[in-house]
Amino acid sequence: MPLEILLFALLFLALALGWWLGRKERRRLTPPPGTLGELSHDYFVGLNYLLNEQPDEAIETFIKALEVNSDTIETHIALGNLFRSRGESDKAVRVHQNLFARPSLTKEQAARVQLELARDFMAAGLLDRAERLLSELTGLNNATGKASQLLLVDLYEREKEWQKAIHTISPSMLKENHHLKKAAAHYACELAAIQLGQKNFAPARKLLKQATAFDAACIRATLLMAQLELQSGSAKAAIRILLRLPEQDPNYIPVMLQTLVDAYQLLDQPKELVSTLEKLLAEHNYTSVMIHLAEVLRKKGRHQEALEKVDHYMLRQGSLKGVDYLINLYLDQARGDERAHLLTLRNLTSQLLEKKPEHQCNNCGFASKQLYWQCPKCREWGSIKPIIGVEGE
Ligand SMILES: [Zn+2]
Repeated sequence: MPLEILLFALLFLALALGWWLGRKERRRLTPPPGTLGELSHDYFVGLNYLLNEQPDEAIETFIKALEVNSDTIETHIALGNLFRSRGESDKAVRVHQNLFARPSLTKEQAARVQLELARDFMAAGLLDRAERLLSELTGLNNATGKASQLLLVDLYEREKEWQKAIHTISPSMLKENHHLKKAAAHYACELAAIQLGQKNFAPARKLLKQATAFDAACIRATLLMAQLELQSGSAKAAIRILLRLPEQDPNYIPVMLQTLVDAYQLLDQPKELVSTLEKLLAEHNYTSVMIHLAEVLRKKGRHQEALEKVDHYMLRQGSLKGVDYLINLYLDQARGDERAHLLTLRNLTSQLLEKKPEHQCNNCGFASKQLYWQCPKCREWGSIKPIIGVEGE
């Protein structure tokens, strides 16, 4: 018997037992309404459907025969949740709605069922309906209220309603949930990036400060602040911010390089750029740093120096990206047969590089060419970083 059918059968038996216990209790207090035979018939018909792997018929019979009392509520909730976890959110909605309509539920029980209904609607993609249900629950000062607040934040995140998500997060939620601090900082960064795109520097700055207040370790806020300074003409401030980034998290050095180069170029300080890149390279073995350094030298006509730097680097830390760049440098001066051989080699390295992802999520392993701030697979924030090693940096 498949595990799911077994689970349904167990839930069904639990309900039957709950019904029987409730009935026994009532019998003790009041005269018995109806007969045991009538109801148990429905239960056994339902059970029979389950055993015959006909869950649709089973659920119909089950809802028809449903008796809600304090002994069976948990089982009803669990049955709805089981449907949801199987991806059958429509059935989960029906079970939970049926339960929710019962006037015998206490306020607390009704709130719990409402929360589960909101989860069902979210699973079904009916976010508006889930939002309405959750908004009514967030004021509750109990576990259901807290769970509803968290779920509402998650809902706004899925809808990319960053401002609403931030407003839903309370200081006590931030205290209790480290993950939420990281997420909140990224919500503020999302808003800041929109403002920055429209050159609205003052609101963007305010949002980035908010991001840092949520999470002082937010690398994205640092990078955006540097871009803001650069775009608003303060290249020196941009450089100052970027040079603090390796202390925050050296993994993101490759991500900051272009902004760093742009800032020095705006100041027209190629010498300072070379010495900054050399210092970075001495402390962090990243191919991207080496390539940026060699590119500055190459553009200044210091071709031999660029070659020596790359050769020296490759002895310390070889990488496919480094080999590809080295071939490009040799190609600059190669002629005839030598050039033809080098072109064949570069064709090969380019093809290999084209297929290689450059970033990877350290939470779920998802790999991609581009850097996502939220992992598209596991939805973790700030978990995707440049890949280091022979096949990466
Ligand atoms: Zn992931």
